[in-house]
Amino acid sequence: MVRRSQAQAEIGNDVARNAKRPKVEEPGSRRTSLRRAQQRALTPIPAAHPELWWSDGNVVVAAVDLSFRVHASILRRHSSIFAELLDKAPDAVGEVHEAFDECQILRVQDKGADLAEMFSVLYDGGSRGFFDWKKPIEFGKLRQITLVAIKYKVQHIIDEAAARLEHVFPTSFVPERLGVDSWVGVRPDYPVHFPHRDAAIIGAVLLARAIDKDNPPAFIATAMYHCASLVSRDLYSPCPTEDQLSLTYEDFLKCDYASGQLIRKCSWVRSPVADALQKPLCGGKACRKGLQRLVCDWIRSSAFSTSQPLSLFASTVIPTYRDAAPDAQLCKLCAVALLETIAQRQREVFADLGNIFEVPNWPAQPQA
Ligand SMILES: [Zn+2]
Repeated sequence: MVRRSQAQAEIGNDVARNAKRPKVEEPGSRRTSLRRAQQRALTPIPAAHPELWWSDGNVVVAAVDLSFRVHASILRRHSSIFAELLDKAPDAVGEVHEAFDECQILRVQDKGADLAEMFSVLYDGGSRGFFDWKKPIEFGKLRQITLVAIKYKVQHIIDEAAARLEHVFPTSFVPERLGVDSWVGVRPDYPVHFPHRDAAIIGAVLLARAIDKDNPPAFIATAMYHCASLVSRDLYSPCPTEDQLSLTYEDFLKCDYASGQLIRKCSWVRSPVADALQKPLCGGKACRKGLQRLVCDWIRSSAFSTSQPLSLFASTVIPTYRDAAPDAQLCKLCAVALLETIAQRQREVFADLGNIFEVPNWPAQPQA
């Protein structure tokens, strides 16, 4: 590896150092050899990346603001797009074949920081922990790497990103991972960390569409389920700013429409509690009184009809009425029966997410 200052000097981007150099060069001096190295570069290439610049590299990838001296074999092995770019015969299409120090120059329009992240994974993926779930990754960084990997078709990075996101947005019924805030912030055992909820769920939907617009990874259904609980203005902006994420208009309409469907489904999921009040499951007076309190409290707090029918609300609240005052206490039989019925209805709603959000390869099936 060549150190930063040396590499930059070799490329000719170290302006300060260049300015101090004498105008007259000895034949065979360092600058003369640099000039020779730059001879076939039509315009100077940007500064060298401080690490991703191997002296035995045979191709220079020149991004907008950084250059990388890497190995064609590594690029070909992981990216069909880079393979195509390397194979493209410039002379055949009337272009001049640029070279730097006998390395082919590949000019791309990416930001250097974006490419650096992807190249770091290609070269140091194991040691940097990109494929190790014990080392969680912040969503913004995962998104940055994955978008570049999508552009250059680096499949194993895309697959890894989708697998990590699927853990957060499960495609099988895992109640404890379906709560709206169960994954926001730094959570142990979660392979992706999301600092902000809204940006996370919108970003996850956008990334799934970027991976495959028409057949996105199935986790998009769970991410859209969470989106449906956001207010419209947070989901969609006709002219989003650079740091603002917005769903496409099509996905926005799906989430907006689903919001009403989910509210109705929530009433259906929680209605066994009201049904039990009408047709008591047991003859206990205290149990009936406990049930009355539960239903009244739910109605007062509007918890019967939210857009989150899959939340753990019922399973966390119902047991508390087992510990209520002795004269108004749900019996164990009724509490367990209600929780089972509600969980079964939640499974059915979960299985239906593919239909609600029109996700063709939604794999979830109702469980017996
Ligand atoms: Zn009872």
